[in-house]
Amino acid sequence: MSAQDRVFIAGAGPVGLVAAANLVRAAVPVTVFEAGSDLSTESRASTFHPPTLDMLDTFGAAEPLIAQGLVAPGFQYRTKKDGLVAEFDFGAIADATAHPYRVQAEQSKLTRILLDQLRGKPGFEISFNSRVQSVTQDGSSVTVAIERSGGTQNHTGRWLIGADGASSSVRRALGTRFEGFTWPDRLLVVSTPFDFHSTIPGLTAVNYVADAERWYFLLQIPGLWRVMFLIKEDISDEQIRTHAFAQSLMATVIPGISNYEISHTTLYKVHQRVAKTFRQGRAFLAGDAAHINNPLGGMGMNGGIHDAINLTDRLAAVWQGRAYDAELDRYDTQRRLVTLETIQTQTIQNKKNLENPEPFAKSLEVIKSDPKRTYEYLLRVSMIATLRRAQELG
Ligand SMILES: Cc1cc2nc3c(=O)[nH]c(=O)nc-3n(C[C@H](O)[C@H](O)[C@H](O)COP(=O)(O)OP(=O)(O)OC[C@H]3O[C@@H](n4cnc5c(N)ncnc54)[C@H](O)[C@@H]3O)c2cc1C
Repeated sequence: MSAQDRVFIAGAGPVGLVAAANLVRAAVPVTVFEAGSDLSTESRASTFHPPTLDMLDTFGAAEPLIAQGLVAPGFQYRTKKDGLVAEFDFGAIADATAHPYRVQAEQSKLTRILLDQLRGKPGFEISFNSRVQSVTQDGSSVTVAIERSGGTQNHTGRWLIGADGASSSVRRALGTRFEGFTWPDRLLVVSTPFDFHSTIPGLTAVNYVADAERWYFLLQIPGLWRVMFLIKEDISDEQIRTHAFAQSLMATVIPGISNYEISHTTLYKVHQRVAKTFRQGRAFLAGDAAHINNPLGGMGMNGGIHDAINLTDRLAAVWQGRAYDAELDRYDTQRRLVTLETIQTQTIQNKKNLENPEPFAKSLEVIKSDPKRTYEYLLRVSMIATLRRAQELG
C-alpha cells in the first residue's frame, strides 16, 4: 500500500483516537502522529455523556470505560446559601439512549483503552515523538511535515484530521482563524481523596454549587473528588498555585472542615473559541483544535468525540465509494453550526447560571415542575439535543 492510501490524524488525544477507532472499524487505513512520547496522563475531562457512551459502544470501548469509571445516574444543583435546589435523573431519558447515565472517568482511561484495542489491528499505525509542523495539499493528497528526532520528514496521505488540541499546528498551518474570546477568570481544579459523601448527605457524583461570589463544582471520579473553583482576575497565578490558597478555597466547601489532603491542583485559562471553518480541502479540524469552551456541563471532550464520529462516518463512506466528496462538507455545516448554536451558548449560560443563584434556582423549579420540560432539559444537558439538531442541519 502506498503512503497515499491512508488517513492521517494529528494527535492521539481522545478525539484523534476515537476517529482512528471508527475508521479502522470501517477498514480505512490510518496513521496517527502524536507529538508526545506516550499518551497524555494529564488530569482533564472526566465526564462521558450518554450519547458519547452510545458511540463508544459501537466499537467496543464503552464497556471497558464503564468498568474503570463510576456510573453517575443523576446530578444535583445546589446553592451555597440554600443547599440542594434540584436533582435530575437520566433515567427520565432512557428511551433516548442505551446509557441513561454519565460515566465519571478520566479521559486518559479512554485513550489507553482505545490504543490497546487498536494495536495490531490491520491498517492501524501510530507514531509517537512525531509533531505535525506544516500541511500542504493538492486536489488528491495532503502532505504533512513531521518533526522527529531533530529532523523533518514529509508524509503524503489522502486526508488529514487535525485533532491536535487547542494550540493545533494543523489549524495554524491551514491559516484558520480561531474566533471567540478568553474569560478574564481562571479555573482551579483541586483533587482530593476526601470522602464528601461522609459529610454531605445524599450527595451525587456530579454537583454544581451556585454562588454570586465564588461558585464551584464537585465531581467524583474513582478514588478522588475534583473540586473546580472560579478564580477572579485580581489574584496572581503565583498566589493561586500555593498550597495555602487551595486549602483556603477547600475550607469554604463544608463549614468546619479544613486541611484537606490534596492530590494535585490544575490552574487553567478558559476560552470560548470556534474555528472559522472545520474543513479546508482535504484537511479537517476536530475536537479542541476546532472549538474550546468552559468546562461547565462537560461538553468539550464530548463534543470533540461527536465531531470525530460525524466526520469519520462520512470519510469511511467516501473511502468505500458510498458517497461523494460533497458529503464531507456536511461535517463542517453540522458540527460547526451546532458548536456555535448550542455548545458555546449552553456553556456560557451554565457559567452565568452559577453566578446568579437566585434566578437560576427559580428556573430549575420551573423545569422540575413539568415532566416535559425536565425531559427536554435532560436531552440538552446530555447533548442528545445537540446531535439531533446537527441532523436537522442537513
Ligand atoms: C482541567 C480541564 C478539565 C476539563 N474537563 C472536561 C470535562 O469534564 N468534560 C469535557 O468534555 N471536557 C473537559 N475538558 C476539555 C477536554 O479535556 C478537551 O476537550 C479534550 O482533551 C479534547 O480532546 P482532543 O483530543 O481534541 O485534544 P487533546 O486532549 O488536547 O489531545 C491533543 C493531542 O495532540 C497532541 N499534539 C499536540 N500538538 C501536536 C502536533 N503538532 N502534532 C501531533 N500531535 C500533537 C497532544 O500531545 C495530545 O496528545 C477539560 C479540560 C481541562 C484543561
